[in-house]
Amino acid sequence: MNFAIIGATGNVGRTTIKVLEKSKIKIDNLFLVASEKSAGNKLVFKQKEIIIEQLEKYDFSKAEITIFAAGSEIAKKWAPQASKKTIVIDNSKYFRMDKDVPLVVAEVNPHDLMNHNNIIANPNCSTIQLMLPLKPLHDKYKIKRVVVSTYQAVSGAGKESVDELFSQTKDYLDNKKINSRNFTKQIAFNLIPHIDSFVDDGYTKEEWKMENETKKILDKTIGLTATCVRVPVKTSHSESVNIEFENEYDLEKVKKILVNAPGCKVVDENKDGGYITPLEAEGDYSTFISRIRKDHSNNKALNMWIVSDNLLKGAALNTVQIAECLMKKKKEV
Ligand code: NAP
Repeated sequence: MNFAIIGATGNVGRTTIKVLEKSKIKIDNLFLVASEKSAGNKLVFKQKEIIIEQLEKYDFSKAEITIFAAGSEIAKKWAPQASKKTIVIDNSKYFRMDKDVPLVVAEVNPHDLMNHNNIIANPNCSTIQLMLPLKPLHDKYKIKRVVVSTYQAVSGAGKESVDELFSQTKDYLDNKKINSRNFTKQIAFNLIPHIDSFVDDGYTKEEWKMENETKKILDKTIGLTATCVRVPVKTSHSESVNIEFENEYDLEKVKKILVNAPGCKVVDENKDGGYITPLEAEGDYSTFISRIRKDHSNNKALNMWIVSDNLLKGAALNTVQIAECLMKKKKEV
């Protein structure tokens, strides 16, 4: 099996290389592709150096599966022609709401992979980690409405944004002037209630994505409202979530469901430190759930805290899991 990564030098691309190294997929050749700027440089996969190829010169027929991690513009321009020669799994937002493109979280709706036209979309990182606990709870209790506030790491905005957090932090401590290039305001020692562009009704595109992707993946009847916030954390997104069910529920049963939820790990002790922080989730494949408790203002609702590595389950890991599902499906046919 041959694989390719478009955008191999970026945050998601580099993480995808690491996930593929650990995956059980037997890879004969891995092709790494990026912009002209990176062409000719090398990256290591399984102790072997691979020369990065330039996108414009790359032949898409070299790999059976191609993971795109280079943003919407590149996906828009290159994925349709690539899909004539390879199966595309795209990390960007470009194809997600296309009705002919499956939008898949591996543990939640792998059955949606049954029908695809060689393009599969990876959901937004904040959506993916939310879907993991919501799915089994929805199956059992039917979710009516979700209110979510996100605390999103800077690595979700690409490698240059991580550099900006580091340089601003240093400049702040050195009493130097702070420059913002990738964020609209200072991110070091601050937070910004704005991710992606604004849409007409006062929401941002990131908030819009969470609402609409949840409907596409899980159930169109679920109402969801989101406030998405960028915080000065390097990796892992956190979410404060209020879930309202159709009917009353049993908190102990909810906890049991979450303990058994695929891809999830419950860390929930009512004591100092008995919860997960973004730093602890970094590098881990699990989505962590903490602070599970009843909503005192509504006996059909509960609160929880969800944390996951945005570059792993929020991006690279889920795309590799999609590839594993596709290969399993191929074997079964
Ligand atoms: P990034 O760190 O900025 O990396 C961008 C990658 O795209 C680099 O490899 C870059 O190559 C390549 N690229 C840029 N322009 C190119 C061009 N003209 N031709 C070929 N390659 C080009 O971005 P990222 O965070 O990895 O995000 C990649 C995609 O995944 C985005 O669509 C993002 O929304 C999505 N995503 C990200 C996350 C996350 O948590 N970061 C989660 C889910 C989805 P060079 O190094 O050569 O410039």
